[in-house]
Amino acid sequence: MGKTAPTLQVTPLTLGMMSRIFLVQGDAGVIVVDAGMRGQTNRIIGALAQREIAPQDVRLLLITHGHLDHFGGAKALQARTGAPVAVHAQDADALRAGRNLPTFTPTSWPSALLMRVGASLMQGHADSALEPDIVFTTPWRLDDYGIAGEVIHTPGHTPGSVTLLLDNGVAIVGDLAMGNMLFPKRATAPLIAWNPERNWESLRLLLEHHPTLIYVTHGQPLTPAALHALLKQHT
Ligand SMILES: [Zn+2]
Ligand SMILES: [Zn+2]
Repeated sequence: MGKTAPTLQVTPLTLGMMSRIFLVQGDAGVIVVDAGMRGQTNRIIGALAQREIAPQDVRLLLITHGHLDHFGGAKALQARTGAPVAVHAQDADALRAGRNLPTFTPTSWPSALLMRVGASLMQGHADSALEPDIVFTTPWRLDDYGIAGEVIHTPGHTPGSVTLLLDNGVAIVGDLAMGNMLFPKRATAPLIAWNPERNWESLRLLLEHHPTLIYVTHGQPLTPAALHALLKQHT
């Protein structure tokens, strides 16, 4: 008898104007990718309830990287769900400190401006600091959490940025790329990067895995063609 393909459903939960987290439901569990900012946890729990997912059904909180808009709510979500928080070893210190690591530069002058405007939002807070339960290196398969997929290292935006690549070809990439604000089907560079060159290397590596659909945190889902076009612009 042939094996049936495992269930894998990705549901984006929009939290802010340009920010989302993802529920990934597999055959034997649900995991949450990223945790939003401090203060967004009730909204996440509510969105789970709407889908008849109890907080304790969440088996893992996977953080794509150590920026506050992705992990600021992790401590609160960890407390509400009891799920372990997992982050790549190279971004774990950002979670411990409860702030963005100071090792990034804007990728363009508009992002330099945005960084100044957004500086107060990006300030750390003691309530965001937490000790991650799982500090992993990659590749890391998530079969133990009921998810047919693996976490791969896609550094550049931050040193420990990761992508969740599901066996069905769907990828959740954090801030490896963003949606274009004016043309949502187009991809754009992340506003800031620790190492832009590494970011483009990581994007190339991801495309070599032939993802079918790419979910970004800031923007609409992207096609591989949109990412190939972005890579061409920058390399
Ligand atoms: Zn980021
Ligand atoms: Zn972000």
